Amino acid sequence: MDFTTLLPFDLDVQNTALESASPEEIIRFAWETWGPDVAMQSSFGADSACLLHLATRVVPDLRVLFLETHYHFPETLQFKEALRRRLHLNIVDLEVLRGREAFVREHGDDLHRRDPALCCHFNKVEPMEDAMKRLGLKAYFTGIRRGQAETRRHFRVLTPESRMSFDVPGGGVAQTSEGGFHVIKVCPILTWTKRQVQDYLREHDLPVHPLVAQGFPSIGCAPCTQRPLDPSDERSGRWVGWNKTECGLHAPPPGT
Ligand code: SF4
Repeated sequence: MDFTTLLPFDLDVQNTALESASPEEIIRFAWETWGPDVAMQSSFGADSACLLHLATRVVPDLRVLFLETHYHFPETLQFKEALRRRLHLNIVDLEVLRGREAFVREHGDDLHRRDPALCCHFNKVEPMEDAMKRLGLKAYFTGIRRGQAETRRHFRVLTPESRMSFDVPGGGVAQTSEGGFHVIKVCPILTWTKRQVQDYLREHDLPVHPLVAQGFPSIGCAPCTQRPLDPSDERSGRWVGWNKTECGLHAPPPGT
């Protein structure tokens, strides 16, 4: 399948139209275009309840893909369970393809200290791409916002991605599935500010991740998350000391 099959419309024209659409309109558009071949990716991070609520109001049984890296804060797993119950979420847990035990046997339990790019590749990128391919997804929702980071400023609401065709960080690691595929990243709250997200959470009486109150505005795996070094940059506490700002799931669009 190529991008032409996935995009039965002019991408630029559609992106321009969706730039001013509401999140609900974007979610409805995606559902009408790709139907059950669309799912959502969630890290159950700081403000995840916002998009989970928005999306499941339009598509109640939407599949929510969660990467169980086994490095999450206990609070993240509690938050996930609380949201599962509250929003009746249809969560699909994903983990390292060769299994946690084999991964630790092969790489130890501290790969994140030695090579976080490779650790993210095995625990996040690879299982997510494998699931997308296995489930035959044509598109997926993600809660990224342009205001979160410089690396996210250039996304558009619909971003075509070529998956399983990237070089593996560190090199020399065998791919687990044959061949690449294409998928559309759909960002319903791309243009929202942090303030709009917080207002939405308040209006709908939705919880925020418990670690937000302890000074963590951006929350990933525990070993790679600190309080922000720069208060104006909510992601500046992620992968501190490494030249790394993304896990690889949201690589900036080509040419930006
Ligand atoms: S965020 Fe850290 S612990 Fe989690 S997968 Fe990436 S490198 Fe590993």
